Amino acid sequence: MTAQPPPPPLSCANRVRRAASAAGRPARAPRAAGGGLRAQVSAADGTVGRMDLTYPPEAEAFRSVIRQWLEENLPEGWGSPGFTMTKEERRAFNDDWVKRLFDGGWICASWPTEYGGKGLSLLEQVVLNEEFARVNAPLRADFFGDTLVGPTLLQYGTEEQKKEFIPRILNGTIAWCQGFSEPDAGSDLASLKTRAELDGDEWVINGQKVWTTQAQFADFAFLLARTDPDAPKHAGISYLLVPMRQPGIEVRPIQQIDGSADFNEVFFTNARCPRENVVGGVNNGWTVAMTTLGFERGSSSTTGYRRFARELDEIRATARRLGRTSDPLIRQRLATAWSKIKIMEINGYRTLTDALNGTHHTVALAACNKMYWSETHQETMELAMDILGMGGQVLTGTFDDSDPSPMARRGRRDYPVDEVQASFFFSRSETIWGGAAEIQRNIVGERVLGLPKEPKVEATSA
Ligand SMILES: Cc1cc2nc3c(=O)[nH]c(=O)nc-3n(C[C@H](O)[C@H](O)[C@H](O)COP(=O)(O)OP(=O)(O)OC[C@H]3O[C@@H](n4cnc5c(N)ncnc54)[C@H](O)[C@@H]3O)c2cc1C
Repeated sequence: MTAQPPPPPLSCANRVRRAASAAGRPARAPRAAGGGLRAQVSAADGTVGRMDLTYPPEAEAFRSVIRQWLEENLPEGWGSPGFTMTKEERRAFNDDWVKRLFDGGWICASWPTEYGGKGLSLLEQVVLNEEFARVNAPLRADFFGDTLVGPTLLQYGTEEQKKEFIPRILNGTIAWCQGFSEPDAGSDLASLKTRAELDGDEWVINGQKVWTTQAQFADFAFLLARTDPDAPKHAGISYLLVPMRQPGIEVRPIQQIDGSADFNEVFFTNARCPRENVVGGVNNGWTVAMTTLGFERGSSSTTGYRRFARELDEIRATARRLGRTSDPLIRQRLATAWSKIKIMEINGYRTLTDALNGTHHTVALAACNKMYWSETHQETMELAMDILGMGGQVLTGTFDDSDPSPMARRGRRDYPVDEVQASFFFSRSETIWGGAAEIQRNIVGERVLGLPKEPKVEATSA
C-alpha cells in the first residue's frame, strides 16, 4: 500500500478560509471578545490583508492607570542612564517591591477576585505586562508559584487547596520548586519512576528528581509521582504538593561551570505528604502536568521580546564602542539579530490575536515561539561574545546575591561574570528547559504539519 502524502500545511489565513468555505459562508475575521487586535479580512477571497494592532480605548485607559502607578512607586531615577543600586539597596528594593505589588493587586492580577486577584481580562493583563516591561520593573513574586503551580491550582485544585495555597502565592510567603524531571525522564517525562504509595492519610514518596531549580529554597514541590505502577506509562501518575522541609528529602546542589548551583538533585526516602495534596485527582497527573507545562511555554506573548531587544541595544552600543561596526560580517549579524527580534515581536501579536479571537492555534504558536526565541537568543549571545573578542573572557562582574529569582543574571562569588557573560551562559540552557528545541520541532512536525511520527529506535542486540 502506498502511503498518502500528508496534507499541505495551512496558513492561518487559509485555515479561516477553509473552515468558512466548508461551512458554506464567506470568511470573516473572528471578533475579539471585549475588543482587541483584529485581522482585516477581505470578504471577496477571505485572505487576511492587514492587522489592526491598535488596542481599544478601555485598554489604553487602563494603560494610563498602570503608568501612573509605576511613576508613583518606582524609586527616583529608575531606568535613567547611570541609575544603580548597591547590593543592600537592591535587596531592600526587592522586599519593598513585592509588598507594593501586593498592595496594588498587580501580582497575578488576572486571577479571580474571590482568590485575591483583580480578575483582569486577557487584554488588561497584556497591557499590565507591557507597561512593567517598558520600564523594566519586576512583576513577579515567585516564578513557579505565579506562573506554573498557581494557575494549575486555579484550574484543577480543590476549594481547600485553593484556600490554603493561593493567598500564600499571592503574598509571596511560599516558595515552590518543580519536581518533574528525573535522571531517565526528561523529554520523555512519562517514563518517570518516583513512586508514591498511600499509607493511611499520607502519601509516602520514594525516588529521585533532577535539575530541580531552587529546591534548596522551596517550601513545597509540585511533584509528579507514579501512583499506579501497573497502569500504562501516561496513566498512573499523580500531581502532588509535597512539603520540602522534612527529614525524608535530601537536596544536593549541582554546581555549574560558573560556580553557581541554581538547580539540584532531590532524593526522596519515605518522604510524606497529606493524602489530600493530590491536584486534579489520583492517577490524573499527566493531564494536570501538561496544563502546567502549557503555562510555562505560553506566557508573555507581547513582552517576551523586550528583554532581548534591550540586550541587543547594549550589544550594538558595545560594537560601536569597540569599532566592530566597520566589520561587514558583524554588521550583517547585527541586522539579522534585529530582524529576528522584530519577528519575535510580531509573532507575539499573532499569539495574542489567537488568544483574543479564540482561534486556538496554541500548540503550534507555543512550540514555534519557544523554539524561535531560545535559538535566536543563543545566536545573539554568540554574536555578543564575538564582538567582545578576548575581552569576553575577562571576568569584570561583581558578586551579587540580592535577587533570588532563578532568572536573575548575577556574578557568582568565585566566578564574577558580568551581565552579558551571565546571559551568554544562561542562553545555552534556554533550548533545553521548558521543552527542548528538538521536542518543539517534533510537536510542530507531528501535531501541526501532520507529518508521520518519528520511528521509535528499538534496542538491538549486537
Ligand atoms: C536551566 C534548567 C532548569 C531546569 N529546571 C527544572 C526544574 O525546575 N524542574 C524540572 O523538573 N526540570 C527542570 N529542568 C529539566 C528540563 O525540563 C529537562 O532538562 C528537559 O526536559 C530535557 O530533558 P533531559 O535533560 O533529560 O534531556 P533528554 O530528554 O535526555 O534529551 C537529550 C537530548 O536529546 C533530544 N531528544 C530527546 N528526545 C528526543 C526525541 N524524541 N526526538 C528528538 N530529539 C530528542 C533532546 O532535545 C536533547 O537535545 C531544567 C533544565 C534546565 C536546563
